[in-house]
Amino acid sequence: MTQRQLLHSQNSLLSWYVTDARSELPWRKTSNIYHIYLSEVMLQQTQVSRVEAEYYPRFLKIFPTLESLSKASLDEVFSLWSGLGYYRRAKNLHATAQLCPDGLPNTSAELEKLPGIGRYTASAICSFGYKQSVSVVDTNIARVLARFFAKVDVKDKELWVLADNYLNLKSATEHNLALMDLGAMICTPKNPKCDICPLITGCIGKENPALYYKKKKITYVDKELHHAICIEDNAIAMVKSKEGMYKDMLELPSLEAHKHEDTCLGTFKHSVTHFRLKVFVYLVEDLGEDITWVALDSIASAPISSLTQKAFAMYEKSVA
Ligand code: SF4
Repeated sequence: MTQRQLLHSQNSLLSWYVTDARSELPWRKTSNIYHIYLSEVMLQQTQVSRVEAEYYPRFLKIFPTLESLSKASLDEVFSLWSGLGYYRRAKNLHATAQLCPDGLPNTSAELEKLPGIGRYTASAICSFGYKQSVSVVDTNIARVLARFFAKVDVKDKELWVLADNYLNLKSATEHNLALMDLGAMICTPKNPKCDICPLITGCIGKENPALYYKKKKITYVDKELHHAICIEDNAIAMVKSKEGMYKDMLELPSLEAHKHEDTCLGTFKHSVTHFRLKVFVYLVEDLGEDITWVALDSIASAPISSLTQKAFAMYEKSVA
């Protein structure tokens, strides 16, 4: 691609961004570094609309600054995160706030030393927050670049080089946001809308976009879980998870299924990361574990996962 073609496509992209992209998102209208960081963490595995409407404003209402977040307990953070899934993100966010209560560092190298901050998040904070001329590569941008430069099976390292070479140094932040939006709105995984794409003139892969984008295959693991509901004096028995994806959160005690077949309330399916779970829920008495009793009327604000919420809902339905 000649320098002239490169400039032309960069300008087309920016013009499209000004008129068509998602500039109204709240984290795009702020220069608060913490707020931008929070949005990046929340958006990692969650739809933009859910983050925008529910989780982002609710979290910032309770923890408007890194300092306020640093003083919170992990349980408080988990309870606000409840339903978002991938609770390790909340834990890392909390740990980062405790390490940097007065503000985040302003270089990718320093940011990447913090819990849960990888190359993408560090670059996003530098580009969208500190307005530095650095490239950003998320899944949307990766797809656009692979198609635009017609790269088959391109590796992450090469994508970052492509992003660097294609970066519009005069408007780097807007350029990155535009590429991100283009991937989300126009150069979509299925049926990209090449006929209205601002990059169509220079795009080398437009004749066969599917060739340059292959969704990573997930190998699912099927698993059964058996959880107990035990109610006493308007409180429910919970245990603190010691490991795995729910570490440090409250969950229903596990039990050996064969001893409690008669008390099974039912089952439900739940997917999390690469696990496809079938969850069995039992109503039992006398749990001998190290129990934390949670008042039934405070379940909604307890640090529990959506899996536990579903199990509790099954119990409520059974007694309604
Ligand atoms: S022309 Fe088509 S394949 Fe190329 S960047 Fe635009 S939408 Fe994607």
